[in-house]
Amino acid sequence: MIKDNLQSIIDKLPSDVKLVAVSKFHPSSAIVEAYEAGQRVFAESRPQELDKKVAELAAVCPDIEWQFIGHLQTNKLKMVLPHVSLVQSVDTIHLLQEIDRWGKANGKVIDVLIEMHIGEDTKQGFYEEEALDLFFSFAKYRNVRFRGLMGMASFVDDEEIVLADFSRIADFYDYVRDVFPEMEDFNILSIGMSGDWPLAVRAGSNMVRIGSAIFGERV
Ligand SMILES: *Cc1c(COP(=O)(O)O)cnc(C)c1O
Repeated sequence: MIKDNLQSIIDKLPSDVKLVAVSKFHPSSAIVEAYEAGQRVFAESRPQELDKKVAELAAVCPDIEWQFIGHLQTNKLKMVLPHVSLVQSVDTIHLLQEIDRWGKANGKVIDVLIEMHIGEDTKQGFYEEEALDLFFSFAKYRNVRFRGLMGMASFVDDEEIVLADFSRIADFYDYVRDVFPEMEDFNILSIGMSGDWPLAVRAGSNMVRIGSAIFGERV
């Protein structure tokens, strides 16, 4: 039961950690079930799927908040940016520039997280030095608001490795907040998924992205 899954996570999750329900590959009916149980923030990873669900659920779930967590191609921005409150998966400067340009053209400021390359298994994301270079020039992106960092740990069973990955990004997050206090809204550390979120919370996460532990296995 989606409702029970959700409740058991909420019971364990510290109250200052935001729960993002990852609904990718699950039908709109599953989202409605979670919504009726009180969940408001959902994330998708594919533009077409997001668009379809936005349309299906606009009337049924009026307070729903969407985020984007997948690889985003620049030719798909107009399918995604009008609908989401946060793009968690900015993985290149090029994508960031195009989001900024879209924001300018549409009179909007888009909240983003910078996706960090932390785990061994992800190829996407910024290395620390690249991210620092970017933050030095953050002010030139006038239509982007830098809200924080997102990352995925290595897909391994060894908890020590996973915790080390999370601790590394958490340390980097603290460092960036120290060095760039001008980025006033930089306050989100999005780490932790179904299989590893307790470790992420231990490392300092304040946003977890949980899919299968709420909705079951993806088909
Ligand atoms: C799919 C996905 C998740 C959720 O994964 P689960 O293991 O099902 O919780 C979280 N973050 C990102 C970036 C994802 O693509």
